[in-house]
Amino acid sequence: MKYVVVSGGVLSGLGKGVTASSIGVLLKSAGLGVTAIKIDPYLNSDAGTMSPFEHGEVFVLDDGGEADLDLGNYERFLDITLGRDNNLTTGKVYSKVIESERKGDYLGKTVQVVPHITDSIQDWIEDVAHKPRNDTGKLSDVCIVELGGTVGDIESAPFIEALRQFQFRVGTDNICFIHVSLIPVMGPVGEQKTKPTQHTVRELRGLGITPDIVICRSETKLTEEAKQKIALFCHVKSNAVLSANDVSNIYRVPLLLDQQGALVLLSQKFNFKIPKSRPLLDEWMDMATHVDDLTEKVTIAMVGKYTGLSDSYLSVTKALNHASFAASRKLVIEWIEASNLENEVEKSDPDLYADSWRRLKDADGVLVPGGFGDRGVEGKILAVEYARKSSTPFLGICLGLQVSIIEFCRNVLNWENANSTEFNDNTPYPVIIYMPEISKTHLGGTMRLGSRKTIINDKNSLASRLYHGLDYIYERHRHRYEVNPDFMNQIESAGMKFVGKDDTSQRMEIIELKNHPFFFATQYHPEFKTRPTKPSPPFYGLLMASSNQKIPNYSENQF
Ligand code: GLN
Repeated sequence: MKYVVVSGGVLSGLGKGVTASSIGVLLKSAGLGVTAIKIDPYLNSDAGTMSPFEHGEVFVLDDGGEADLDLGNYERFLDITLGRDNNLTTGKVYSKVIESERKGDYLGKTVQVVPHITDSIQDWIEDVAHKPRNDTGKLSDVCIVELGGTVGDIESAPFIEALRQFQFRVGTDNICFIHVSLIPVMGPVGEQKTKPTQHTVRELRGLGITPDIVICRSETKLTEEAKQKIALFCHVKSNAVLSANDVSNIYRVPLLLDQQGALVLLSQKFNFKIPKSRPLLDEWMDMATHVDDLTEKVTIAMVGKYTGLSDSYLSVTKALNHASFAASRKLVIEWIEASNLENEVEKSDPDLYADSWRRLKDADGVLVPGGFGDRGVEGKILAVEYARKSSTPFLGICLGLQVSIIEFCRNVLNWENANSTEFNDNTPYPVIIYMPEISKTHLGGTMRLGSRKTIINDKNSLASRLYHGLDYIYERHRHRYEVNPDFMNQIESAGMKFVGKDDTSQRMEIIELKNHPFFFATQYHPEFKTRPTKPSPPFYGLLMASSNQKIPNYSENQF
């Protein structure tokens, strides 16, 4: 087993995850099996209880793990399926060590960060790296370990120390340290400044880790002068200082690193041969070119809750992008704050209200993504009503499905004040209800989570067409509420069809409106399984419908 450890310096948000995933793509292109572990040095056991507006989206895995969004980068870039153990947090390590202590495993000993926590971290990494992969059942050749946060943080100290020791546990020939840093550009002539990188590498070396490769994020290509300086001050070979400058799309990052010999460096370190032809990289090249060449636009209005952190809807954005590549359209996302569509805003801020409605109405398609809490719910309901009545293509996800049901019940069935009990406990028509098996006392890890089966019960449905005529599918879930099965028949007789249900037939998974070009909503989150060349079917449907293209019948479907 070979390990590639990716750390980061200077500041967070450098695109370390994309860089690490890109290294994975290069290793995969050489025929190696790659898996990944993301380390998050926070005390939460997992990302499940964290706000997406603070930390980016919560990524859901097949096994129900609620993980950091970087796991999504790995799954999408490497086309692999990971599990909850691929995300290691301080919370998980400490829980494990404390549990062992209570069992008496360390009887007589003082339990300490070094060696008990650091040993536990190393054991975890080794175990996960050696586990057969969830999807293929095969063993991996390389494990990428990405350390979250920036080197020097108090939180990450035990992990750095564990990784320092780990190089001796596995042998220095079997581990490659990559440090990702920032090169700011300053002054009138745009000088590339290397000092922050010098400092962060010095800090890392002070902690006992010498990077084999330094990858420098910068706006422009790293100059030869900057490269030499970094090599000199950071104790790395000059050909091991790589430039990760801004590129036209993220699919170019693996190609950019490849051109600078990243794979050659890894092959020398790990002693493997690079095959002459690497079809995987050719595919990436084709994809990157295709993405750059898209010109004809399609605009999708995303009606959600925003605080300026676009990472809060990362997988949805990726899924839209991937679908736009397959539909050969250039994607434009109009971010619309749902609450700004509500009537009160018309009085308090008429311009904002008018502008929000104009942007919604100008869009070719409407998407209402998942969400929690009641802010903006009425605005989302108004957006659904608009999409339904104007025959605008619509995709609802999770909460998006729930608000579609509420809208339909209020405005088509005339059930006044129909609502979800999440937003109004006393509604006369509780059309969305709390699922009976879900805990009311513990919020962490207790939702209906992960991969579940949906049976598609109508061969003439959009769902059947989009999912290649399959009788059943598996998609990932993350919710506490569901459509109230008591109202199922009345809703169906009014024209809203439940074309996908779980195997009890009591849990609604997919809804479609007849007599509408594309009105489709899912209780599950299809965005978590999208791939650049295999877009998620519901998103593909939305993009095709929004660009007035016929959704191919599954027999003619390309993918
Ligand atoms: N709040 C809703 C529920 O818990 C929707 C969740 C979601 O959109 N992920 O069921």
